[in-house]
Amino acid sequence: MDVPRLRRVLLRWFARSKRPLPWRQTRDPYAIWVSEVMLQQTTVAAVIPYYARFMARFPTILSLATGDEDAVLEMWSGLGYYARARNLRLGAQVLARNHNGTFPRDVETAMTIKGVGRYTASAVTSLAYGARVAAVDGNVFRVLSRLYAARDLTSPRAQQLATNLLSARAPGAWNEAMMELGATVCLPKRPRCQTCPVRTDCEGRSRPESWGGGRPRRATIKTMVEMALVIRSDRVLLVRTPTGDLMGGLYELPHAGLPGQEEACMALRDRYRGRLRVAPEAVTTIRHAVTHHRIEALIFRARLLKLPSGDAIFQPRGALSRLPLGGLTRKALRAVGIPV
Ligand code: SF4
Repeated sequence: MDVPRLRRVLLRWFARSKRPLPWRQTRDPYAIWVSEVMLQQTTVAAVIPYYARFMARFPTILSLATGDEDAVLEMWSGLGYYARARNLRLGAQVLARNHNGTFPRDVETAMTIKGVGRYTASAVTSLAYGARVAAVDGNVFRVLSRLYAARDLTSPRAQQLATNLLSARAPGAWNEAMMELGATVCLPKRPRCQTCPVRTDCEGRSRPESWGGGRPRRATIKTMVEMALVIRSDRVLLVRTPTGDLMGGLYELPHAGLPGQEEACMALRDRYRGRLRVAPEAVTTIRHAVTHHRIEALIFRARLLKLPSGDAIFQPRGALSRLPLGGLTRKALRAVGIPV
């Protein structure tokens, strides 16, 4: 492997072929941080509209630090893994308080911020400040394992190989180029070796799929959810889910999850016994994906007997979008003709 040639070729290819993603139009560490957090477990296509809206609402660390948690969750609603949004806001508060409202320039300090791990710290500091640190995400891990034909690559070894390859002249562009190669050319299945810019120096090109399919993916979890639609005087009953829940911290229709296909109505009736009278037939069924969860939701009309304990409110139909609603509830409301 001719490392200087590989660096030259890959950087040239990246300059020519990179996708014009919105977070690539800036060197603002905050904007890059937001994009990196959103991209965790989420595709580029899904993130783009959320990123634009989020940055319009919270354009600076200070605006996020002083922003209301509900407003932050509302901007995140539908992206899933809401702990990311909460940690981002808490991190912004720490930066506003202890770091003059700026993202740290060194990896170790950045990693003291809640929710910022080695990858995110390396990506932000190299892209924004040109710090000489290699960022290894799942794509880069796969590219490395193929470039070096390394079957049992471990994370520390991958970090070491990435550090050895890093371009000292342009560390940020180098990290992005490696990620871009993994995302668009060195794909997990059917990598495009014929058109790959670094094929001459790739030791694994003869059998690319034998080397590192990447870190193991999380298995898909199928979940059946039953939801209750309770409407009184044109107001919709919503409950706030506990923070640890899959949809934690957001407002949802009253719901109950089932680990598989159970008999209709049982979970919802069990959970809201004495509080809701649930109709025997579902109005409709919707499907929803949040990260690795595949949710099938049955929506039942229900009548209120007694307000559920905890955080339950009736919200006027016209004011529903003022609350941070979960993506599943948004979809369910639209499915029954209530615009949100
Ligand atoms: S030649 Fe093939 S296996 Fe090697 S980096 Fe390029 S796409 Fe990946």
